[in-house]
Amino acid sequence: MNIAVINSGSSSIKFQLFCMEKNEVLAHILVEKIGESISDMILEYEDKKLEIITVIKNHHDGLEEIISLLSKHSLLKDFTSLSAIGHRVVHGGEEFKSATIIDENIIKKIEALIPLAPLHNPANLEGILVAIKKAPNVPQIAVFDTAFHSNMPEEAYIYALPYEMYEKYKIRRYGFHGTSHSYVLKQTAKLLQKNLNELNIITLHLGNGSSACAIENGVSIDTSMGFTPLEGLVMGSRCGDVDPAIIIHMQRELGMSVDEVDKLLNKKSGLIGICKNNDVRTIIEQNDEKSQLAIKVMVRRIKKYIGAYMALLDRVDAVVFTGGIGENSAYIREMVLSSLLYEIELDKSLNAQNSTIISTKKSSVKLMVIKTDEEQEIANECLSLLKNQF
Ligand code: AMP
Repeated sequence: MNIAVINSGSSSIKFQLFCMEKNEVLAHILVEKIGESISDMILEYEDKKLEIITVIKNHHDGLEEIISLLSKHSLLKDFTSLSAIGHRVVHGGEEFKSATIIDENIIKKIEALIPLAPLHNPANLEGILVAIKKAPNVPQIAVFDTAFHSNMPEEAYIYALPYEMYEKYKIRRYGFHGTSHSYVLKQTAKLLQKNLNELNIITLHLGNGSSACAIENGVSIDTSMGFTPLEGLVMGSRCGDVDPAIIIHMQRELGMSVDEVDKLLNKKSGLIGICKNNDVRTIIEQNDEKSQLAIKVMVRRIKKYIGAYMALLDRVDAVVFTGGIGENSAYIREMVLSSLLYEIELDKSLNAQNSTIISTKKSSVKLMVIKTDEEQEIANECLSLLKNQF
């Protein structure tokens, strides 16, 4: 049984082809710079890697190119032979609590959620519409980034704003990166040989976008991203938590427009805002005053969230690092974990090796590094939905 996963972004498509029986990735294709004068395509399969420079006008052409590349390398004839196509959809609002087979009604609902995720849902939808055209008889399944957080208690998702803001306009915390937090949770359960629903963990997805999640008995009970993926941790170019009065001040006193403020908070803030760079590797190498400050601000915020989530969970089995920074930077992990609580002890040598378990034997909380795999999680969600449906 082959399942394809499509993660369609505003100017990119990540495509992965899985053979579910063999638990194997048959092909991985990344299309970038869609709509620009030159686009990049990278195909990886077996141990081969092919880079193609071409022109891809839109998502439709992107998927066409993907299909012809797969067929040329005898990896897949066309999409119609697939058992399912899984699509990453960033915002599922309050309605979507799990993976869902896409039909016309579901498309309308994803469309209706565009105002809540104007940067992401239109691109996700584009990928869905093109894939339906290419394979109208194959089940197309939406897997939502918000779904994993959909069982958060009311006190976690209600903002202390007038209640009508929630009732009338659905302004509440939703949380994102759910596919990654969920994948990492399941991997943690396997590695610690525990039942998922008995596990209390804090997951830290630290990448260009970052979020923390408090998981109690296998359920997300709080997470750092909120109404949008802007809230919470300090990210590559996103500010995370700020005093909302700053936004009023920027508009009223500094004369900035709504679009200018939007761009400033999403694209010009976070690490790039403080030290003009969003690549943590480079920032660590640069090591000048602003770079050091950017890292300290980022690390302090992560520590504060860990502390907060420890206070929410009555027991913590593990703190798990994932994402580009979480998986690779022993330096950042050590900064985050230093002087947390004396019962929590990092084994510096295991940490330096990026081992899966990086805590000492006597540490009361397991400290772990787990590589996330959102595409695999989407494929797994598709498979379990198909098994339940048919
Ligand atoms: P992601 O968005 O998950 O791909 O993560 C991207 C971030 O991970 C960037 O800030 C990279 O600089 C960072 N990253 C990747 N590898 C390393 C590394 N070895 N050390 C520090 N940061 C890294």
